[in-house]
Amino acid sequence: MRCTLCPRYCRLKPGATGVCRARRNVDGKLVYLYYGRFSSIALDPIEKKPLYHFFPGSTILSLGAIGCNLACKFCQNWEIAQSETPTREITPETVAELALERRTDDCIGVAYTYNEPLVGYEFVLDTARAVQDAGLQNVLVTNGEINPEPLGELLPYIDALNIDVKGFTEEYYRELCGGRLAPVLETARLAKRQSHVELTTLLIPGKNDAPEELKALVDWVADELGEDTPLHFSRYFPQYRLNLPATPLETLEMAREIALRRLKFVYIGNAWELGEADTRCPECGKLVIERRGYQVESQLVDGHCPECGARIAEAGEQPCQ
Ligand code: SF4
Repeated sequence: MRCTLCPRYCRLKPGATGVCRARRNVDGKLVYLYYGRFSSIALDPIEKKPLYHFFPGSTILSLGAIGCNLACKFCQNWEIAQSETPTREITPETVAELALERRTDDCIGVAYTYNEPLVGYEFVLDTARAVQDAGLQNVLVTNGEINPEPLGELLPYIDALNIDVKGFTEEYYRELCGGRLAPVLETARLAKRQSHVELTTLLIPGKNDAPEELKALVDWVADELGEDTPLHFSRYFPQYRLNLPATPLETLEMAREIALRRLKFVYIGNAWELGEADTRCPECGKLVIERRGYQVESQLVDGHCPECGARIAEAGEQPCQ
């Protein structure tokens, strides 16, 4: 049996589990092992996903399960992505109900996150349908390693995605992540046609931070997705199986400078001291969203600049009222 969900195309003998550790050949049937189970749940600021241009200042019920189809040496969630962790039961309808109950806390819907949610495709699809039926938003935080057909079936239910573009060479993906870059770019392209998309790149010193590689990434984003696509550069700290010094602040600033030549919205994450998390209107320069940690002060009016009317974000400042 072959699993066709992601570009790994695992061949599974009876009883065998895929690379993601979440899907198994059970008596000739491909089964997602954690359907209706979760390992983590929390009401997070939407900025934590990170999504800076999608209902800024709101919160989102965030759900994680088990497993991942990559094997990043620097994984930040390896306890749930790469090893066993206890899970609890939940149904798609209960997830939607829980999110509805938190509307008073500005909760806009549900985020599938923490581990790689797409290895639990069936549960994400069913839950996203229930959440959409409840009139709420669905957010996917993903590494983008999924085949176009299942992605196409899911996208009508997904309102926004943050996609990791971990580096911009196949070599980087092969050596540090055990995956491929090309499918990730295809996912970003397809998603951008119908959903809000932001990208995140974790900058690892000496691995994916060469100026020419960053320029190639930025040119691709501008040309293929559009210059209004927010790009988040995130600071690396030693994690899991990769023990390198943290990304120098100068590297993050250099990356931002390169990106701003082509893109309107570029942010630095995990380095609040740089103060590069605010949003300025690209048309008139007005400071429209101030961020201090996850404290957000937005002046947007229905997602538009109050000064010149330029469109900055999806939806308004307080979507749940
Ligand atoms: S989703 Fe899991 S089982 Fe399916 S191809 Fe990808 S890694 Fe293999």
